[in-house]
Amino acid sequence: MSDDLQVRILRDLVSFETITPNGKTAISYASNFLQTLGFQCFELTFGGVANLYARLGESSRNLSFAGHVDVVPPGTNWKFPPFTLTLDNGRFYGRGTNDMKGPLAACLAAIRDFCSLKSSPISPSLSVILTSDEELMGDNGTKKVIDFLMKKNEKIDGCVLCESCCPNDVSGSYIKIGCRGSLNVNLSSHGTQCHVVNGKISGNHLQKFISFLNSLLDEKLDMGSEKFPPSTMEITSIDVGNYTRNIIPNLATAKLNIRFNDLWNFEKLEQLIKGKSPKNVEASFERFYEAMICSGQKFINLIEASMSKTNGVKPEVGTLGGNSDAIFIRKITDVVEVGSPISGAHIVDEFITGKDLIRLQKIYYNIMCDFASYNL
Ligand SMILES: [Zn+2]
Repeated sequence: MSDDLQVRILRDLVSFETITPNGKTAISYASNFLQTLGFQCFELTFGGVANLYARLGESSRNLSFAGHVDVVPPGTNWKFPPFTLTLDNGRFYGRGTNDMKGPLAACLAAIRDFCSLKSSPISPSLSVILTSDEELMGDNGTKKVIDFLMKKNEKIDGCVLCESCCPNDVSGSYIKIGCRGSLNVNLSSHGTQCHVVNGKISGNHLQKFISFLNSLLDEKLDMGSEKFPPSTMEITSIDVGNYTRNIIPNLATAKLNIRFNDLWNFEKLEQLIKGKSPKNVEASFERFYEAMICSGQKFINLIEASMSKTNGVKPEVGTLGGNSDAIFIRKITDVVEVGSPISGAHIVDEFITGKDLIRLQKIYYNIMCDFASYNL
């Protein structure tokens, strides 16, 4: 299976300027590629965003691979052209090579390899879920495809998301099985507007607000749980909007983001913040998602065993990093992420090494083979 199909696919994918959420060209390309292998393809457009669900096989056991074809804008100062795949010193450069057209090219090439074995009676069904708005809000991508599949009563027995997720530098050496939750907190401190010379009399609420924010940051939320790193709280913005030097304004606002593990949920965190807030501070919240973990231990074991065999070493299993479309996919099936190093995502002169492409292709291929012969 060591041909350069994965490189040819990557070259084509990189040439499509699929800046989020404009992924139609790459979605059609993947759809055509999978149709030639016999897949039934459903191109699904939601709110102008192109998506794909493709399925091969009638077996009720259905292994899915998922990903996104959209990329973030290239920005400036590239040494290599962002939309032309360029090989230099063992590295393939181009926007999306790491996140995640490289892993996707490896996956499509692995599917072609696996399909050449398709005569096996124990083959499972294979499916592919692709979207074009992962780098944006994700409103019209995987979330809606999963809703579509649930309405259609489509059964999926496990999903590998080929996402940029490795906390170290070697593609395919990490299995991400979940992510911490995310809660945004908006705080407003209300006080009395006055001349600065009267600050002491008015009890300058801005200074008290800073002390309050510091007390929140001093809070150790937890020390981590069995499967998650510690929860963290970060200030993302502090605003007063005062362009003068002689007024203490009556309003100050701050924004916080809390990344929380499975020891917390939205309610508990909101109670904590409200309970600590002084009377003049109002708190409101934007709930993003709760901490999520793949509960299918058998599926995780299968992926781990398959990757150990491919790489010759046991992969790490964990929950480091941010969220991904896995938060939507988990509604329908167990999902794990196996892909490229997260440190290489969204950077200028983004790249994936030739070795990593081949390793990922072998990993995805072996997962298909092992899933075929393993009874979950
Ligand atoms: Zn990505």
